[in-house]
Amino acid sequence: MRYPESLLKLARALSRLPGVGPKTAQRLALHLAFRREAAADLEAALRGLEGLGVCRLCGNLAEGELCPICQDAGRDRRVMAVVETVADLFALERSGEFRGLYHVLGGALNPLEGVGPKELNLESLWPRLAGVEEVVLATSMTVEGEATALYLAEELRRRGIRATRPAYGLPVGGSLEYADEVTLGRALEGRKPL
Ligand SMILES: [Zn+2]
Repeated sequence: MRYPESLLKLARALSRLPGVGPKTAQRLALHLAFRREAAADLEAALRGLEGLGVCRLCGNLAEGELCPICQDAGRDRRVMAVVETVADLFALERSGEFRGLYHVLGGALNPLEGVGPKELNLESLWPRLAGVEEVVLATSMTVEGEATALYLAEELRRRGIRATRPAYGLPVGGSLEYADEVTLGRALEGRKPL
């Protein structure tokens, strides 16, 4: 049978989302076709994303110039966690163990793919370190993440700032995003100097 073009178009768009295969995309599209209220909610939520930008300071998502974390006067400004992605930042927040500030690099060093220090959000990191006593290098436990942590540890040493790395319990080769909250919380508690 031939499916209506509008349904196919929606299914195609949905199938581009991470973790959504063609079958799930079709099921979701059908669901939305019959549940107009759900479709309207989704439409409104998607339109709301238009107001979402990037925090001027840390690279987190923000609805204004600054993200909620940078605006929060209750955060400990002496500790900063450097992460690769906003998803990693969210993962650390879910652990509930970290009360400091963040800096989102937007990736990890990967010379083979042409990602050097200049390709990462690093220029804006150095001016933010005034008053920071410890930088937690919370990059992934991958080759690229480790290389990035070592590079940053050296840069921080030259600036006289303590660098630590969460290690305990985190899977080697893994991204922070997929670690559970308890593991991530313990890894943060047991962070070691680099
Ligand atoms: Zn921010």
